[in-house]
Amino acid sequence: MPTILKGAKIFAGTDQEVLEDGFLIIDKGGRIDYVGPNYDLPSGDDIKIIDLKGKFILPGLIDCHIHLDLHGIPNTYEENLVEDKLRTIRAAREMEETIQAGFTTVRNAGSVNHIDISVRQGVENGWINGPRILTSGRILSITCSGTEYFNGMYRIADGYAEFKKAAREQLREGADFIKIMATGAFMNPGGIPGAEQPDIKELQAAVEEASKLGKYVAAHAHGAQGIKNAILAGVRTIEHGTFADEEAIAMMLEKDVFLVPTFAVDYYWLKYGIKGGVPKHMLEKAEEAKGISINSTRMALKAGVKIAMGTDAGTPYNYHGGNAIELLIMVKEGLLTPQEAILSATSTAAKACGLETETGTLEKGKWADLLVVEENPLEDISVLTCKDKILKVFKEGRLIKDLDSPSK
Ligand SMILES: [Zn+2]
Repeated sequence: MPTILKGAKIFAGTDQEVLEDGFLIIDKGGRIDYVGPNYDLPSGDDIKIIDLKGKFILPGLIDCHIHLDLHGIPNTYEENLVEDKLRTIRAAREMEETIQAGFTTVRNAGSVNHIDISVRQGVENGWINGPRILTSGRILSITCSGTEYFNGMYRIADGYAEFKKAAREQLREGADFIKIMATGAFMNPGGIPGAEQPDIKELQAAVEEASKLGKYVAAHAHGAQGIKNAILAGVRTIEHGTFADEEAIAMMLEKDVFLVPTFAVDYYWLKYGIKGGVPKHMLEKAEEAKGISINSTRMALKAGVKIAMGTDAGTPYNYHGGNAIELLIMVKEGLLTPQEAILSATSTAAKACGLETETGTLEKGKWADLLVVEENPLEDISVLTCKDKILKVFKEGRLIKDLDSPSK
């Protein structure tokens, strides 16, 4: 049955405009049929009308970088003690938390033992309520120190042929994109974030295999040289981009590469620190890099690079469902206005994920992925971090959260 949402302020995400007293019609198939003013309400029993006067509608949010099978445990090594079946159940529950928070799409940037593929299937089968999940399977990495810290998370490969096979394996399992470690990491002992890892040829192997299926590569990259290698190889997104220099930023711009900064990681590590159980080896590196990623993102923004929102949810204290903290951080740091922050998590994020024809804005023909919020987040972005102010969440036209009718 078609659903008519009437009377709300609507931010469609297509331009700067906020529609006052707007109408949004969702068709029987879950797609948007109309967004605009002045709709003549039809009569008939087979139409559901929801009056949303005083409320605010915006496109469903998209987090471009999570790890659904990590739980935010302070010492990430302890994730290895939770066996896969339990991790899968936990991840399923936490995807419910995520959609309740208004995130209708997530991009999962690596999971152990293909738990991600199973959870995605569970959502698609309708067994659990969760966001649309795009996922990478295991993360491709060269032989290096630190990968043993995450049992089952990495597919180790060395050389062009092995990277080809490693990418093909993830695609065979159903990966939507390939995730690759272009540099070392903050999160494991022995990882050197500034150090480049695969050669350009190895990175290209993954890009070639993904491209054959119309897919792409997301590169974890902190150090400037690793970022440049990844861009030269043809990746679509740079994850983190901590030590990006001017040349790296110019390359992102030239090749239309998206930057996914993930500020929430350091925010929680530094907030909870040693006392909170965050491992010393992580904190030492985080202290060294403090403020640097904010600066490089500021430079990237100034140059015109597209920023897509990602949290790295699942890292210490960075719990699933708390994803909107990233928006608040970007606004508080003066990087983005509330409106720009929302766009980074809607239209820009949809482009980064390759979903721009399906979601990310409220336009006729797209999926009705949207949320109804109690107050205007363009005036106060922190509204999106309050779950009780996110009144309704629709995914593909289906009402998944409905605080006004708790009996459902
Ligand atoms: Zn990550």
